[in-house]
Amino acid sequence: MKVPLLDLKCQYQLVKQDILRVTEEIYDSQYFILGPHVEALEQQMAQYCQADFALGVSSGTDALIIALMAAGIAAGDTVMTTPYTFFATAGSISRVGAHPCFVDIDPATYNISPVGISAAIERMSPAERGRLKAIIPVHLYGQCADMDPILEVARDSHLIVIEDAAQAIGAEYKDRRAGGMGDFGCFSFFPSKNLGAFGDGGMVTTPSKAFHDTLVMLRNHGSHPKYYHSLIGGNFRLDALQAAIVSVKLKYLDQWTKMRQDHAATYRDLFSQCGLEGRVMLPVEKETRHTFNQYVIRVAEKRDELRAFLLESEIGTEVYYPVPLHLQKCFSFLNYREGDFPEAEHAAAQTLALPVFPELTAAQQEYVVDRIQLFLRK
Ligand SMILES: *Cc1c(COP(=O)(O)O)cnc(C)c1O
Repeated sequence: MKVPLLDLKCQYQLVKQDILRVTEEIYDSQYFILGPHVEALEQQMAQYCQADFALGVSSGTDALIIALMAAGIAAGDTVMTTPYTFFATAGSISRVGAHPCFVDIDPATYNISPVGISAAIERMSPAERGRLKAIIPVHLYGQCADMDPILEVARDSHLIVIEDAAQAIGAEYKDRRAGGMGDFGCFSFFPSKNLGAFGDGGMVTTPSKAFHDTLVMLRNHGSHPKYYHSLIGGNFRLDALQAAIVSVKLKYLDQWTKMRQDHAATYRDLFSQCGLEGRVMLPVEKETRHTFNQYVIRVAEKRDELRAFLLESEIGTEVYYPVPLHLQKCFSFLNYREGDFPEAEHAAAQTLALPVFPELTAAQQEYVVDRIQLFLRK
């Protein structure tokens, strides 16, 4: 049996007619950049994420960069974040000229540890504390970071909070939504995210009218009015086609999220039925609404052998992420060493993402768990 890690073709059949109709409208209009489809999606996203404002941008990475720019983060500043995330989180910090400062994760959720944040700030010299301007918690795999203590530390230390919600659209923390808690929320419509476009796209949310006004200017080269530039922005614009496609798919998002959550529950049942819960660590659902962009298990040893075995069995898996960011070559100038963030390093060595896309079948899940069982019993 073939079980791909992700299969978008099935989902496309469901939305195909609506998408062909709306994209044809755009072809006929020959109006491709920003415009009414982007504005409509911005309103829908603001509402969906419980944010006051939302701004369509060119990618999730650009969402992070433009948020950092709007917050005034620049050379000489530092921004705190997790070393166990997709590269863009820390890459964006560097792209605006600032330095990332890493804090280890909570091994149960893989999200940045609030206790670690406080301890890191305590250890800083007054000069280092002065340079620290913002914090980027990442809601990894679709589960929110522990936001209350993070927001509290941020308030006490006057830090901007930028939520990296690229993997977590619709995820909830207590009764709040991802992207609706910090000063900015950054979303990605990369095709493999829970709400994917047919190309690149992203969104920034914010509760602040002032930040929103700045974001609007920065998205279009800092111009306001046209050809008058008081800021240096860039081309961070979202296409009408991508916005229209994402709008169509947004109507199905809750249904797809429910299917992902059901698959997570099924995996839990299957793993416990075969008595593997001790040997395979399953995702810990700590926050109220985990949206399972990824279903990530953990094994104490032989992760790569397990992955190879599953690949032979035609089961797609992925390692998110094999090298924590503090050990990436491009960040060697930050002078971090192996052992600095042991939880992130262990997670990088032990985790494996299994298929969890909405259309996955019960038979496929049984096959996946069966093959894992076979490998572990060998
Ligand atoms: C996907 C992702 C991004 C970047 O989004 P793009 O749209 O691919 O630029 C940023 N952060 C995290 C955590 C992501 O998963």
